[in-house]
Amino acid sequence: MGFKSSQTWYEAMAPARDAAPPPRGVVAADACIIGGGLAGITTARELQRRGRIVVLLEAKTLAWSASGRNGGFVGNGFAAGIEEIIERVGLKNAQALYRLSAHGTEYVRREVTRLDASIRMSDGIIVAQRVNDPAGARRRQEMMLRDFGEGLDVLSAEQTRALLVTERYFQSLRNPKSFLIHPLRYARALADDAEHGGVNIFENTPALSVSRKGSSFVVRTAHAEVHAQHVVHCVSALDRRIHAPTGRAVLPVATYVAVTEPLTQDAIRTRSGIGDMRRAGDYYRLVTDNRLLWGGRITTRISEPLRLAQMMKHDMLAVFPQLGNPRIDYAWGGLMAYALHKMPLIGRARDGQWFATAFGGHGLNTTAMAGILLARAIADKDDEYRRFAAFAPRWAGGPFGRIGVQASYWHMQLRDRLDERADRQSRDGEDDERE
Ligand SMILES: Cc1cc2nc3c(=O)[nH]c(=O)nc-3n(C[C@H](O)[C@H](O)[C@H](O)COP(=O)(O)OP(=O)(O)OC[C@H]3O[C@@H](n4cnc5c(N)ncnc54)[C@H](O)[C@@H]3O)c2cc1C
Repeated sequence: MGFKSSQTWYEAMAPARDAAPPPRGVVAADACIIGGGLAGITTARELQRRGRIVVLLEAKTLAWSASGRNGGFVGNGFAAGIEEIIERVGLKNAQALYRLSAHGTEYVRREVTRLDASIRMSDGIIVAQRVNDPAGARRRQEMMLRDFGEGLDVLSAEQTRALLVTERYFQSLRNPKSFLIHPLRYARALADDAEHGGVNIFENTPALSVSRKGSSFVVRTAHAEVHAQHVVHCVSALDRRIHAPTGRAVLPVATYVAVTEPLTQDAIRTRSGIGDMRRAGDYYRLVTDNRLLWGGRITTRISEPLRLAQMMKHDMLAVFPQLGNPRIDYAWGGLMAYALHKMPLIGRARDGQWFATAFGGHGLNTTAMAGILLARAIADKDDEYRRFAAFAPRWAGGPFGRIGVQASYWHMQLRDRLDERADRQSRDGEDDERE
């Protein structure tokens, strides 16, 4: 767990939470959840709602990692693109999976409203094209409506540029039902709610090992043993040893966010979230005080690059040079877990232990979905989680997998640049013909 990070804007904007002292002696529970990110917190909350006695162990503080330091974009789908999912499992199964991902989105929407409506910061996500392809935008809109019941608005290049004053963008697709949250406040509010409901949450308590004892499991911590019938691993890529079958199936991937000083600007005229359609794109949104929160880039080194703030500023100014030279007040990295197929790993291993991990860069809805599926599986013997059997844990290639991820990111960046260049050249050609 060597990933160090500076203070995030979210931490600066969220009140701290009182933690219970680490457990001592023997603690008994129906289920022990390992990992206090959103996957673990939601699973714990949903099991408690179904009347189970739950212990949640968090190595550091709740949601200190990806769950509390992400972009805050909540929308349907997965880290894997919809075309990739269809290719792997066929349209019908892809539709069923997409519906499950939408349940996750609805769960977050409902919980945020119930817990504290101010956690929801704004609405709508716009994905902009960096190539001029009006027909492509329409085709995608039609396909998403026909095959997935997802109603997207197409914005023309003029409409897009009226909202986002940059020549980098052409048409865009807007999902008005997606929304944006303060993820750290959401995770803490959900955890507080779970705790009030009776979940025993222990922070600063790494789980050190899990072993079988008769029909149940013993989870060891520095000073305690949790005896539980069920164990659920929700540790992302932060501990790949505690449960080897899932640990070796995930790769750690780091990604970055920066937040500017409060801005007076007229370049971004919407509070919706913005992404672009590149394979390796940027995403951003305006947050409180007109600060610009900007995310992007990935690396497989588990450390923050030097000059992170300058790198992110460079990316911002490449799209909006008119922003001048904004001061970067916060810059941080966060660690995600990816399986090679980019779909979450959700299920039960041969050893009887449950897992929910590898949500990649699309975890706000999918961690909620996983929490519901696993709580229903454990408490009600529901087997809908088996829809993820097609994405079972497989060895991710260890160090070679990491090299592969980095190489494929560079390859994606290169293909993005070539696509943009080809698009520019074809438009220049059209201009020459007109002249
Ligand atoms: C910068 C960034 C931007 C992102 N933007 C978005 C976005 O806009 N929208 C979106 O949907 N997704 C986004 N994501 C992805 C999303 O944040 C993650 O997929 C999701 O939060 C993963 O949740 P998790 O609970 O699996 O893991 P984590 O949040 O990483 O939590 C895992 C927890 O397990 C704990 N742990 C590890 N080992 C042990 C142990 N042995 N004992 C006890 N505890 C342990 C860790 O301390 C940690 O708290 C982003 C991610 C990053 C990093």
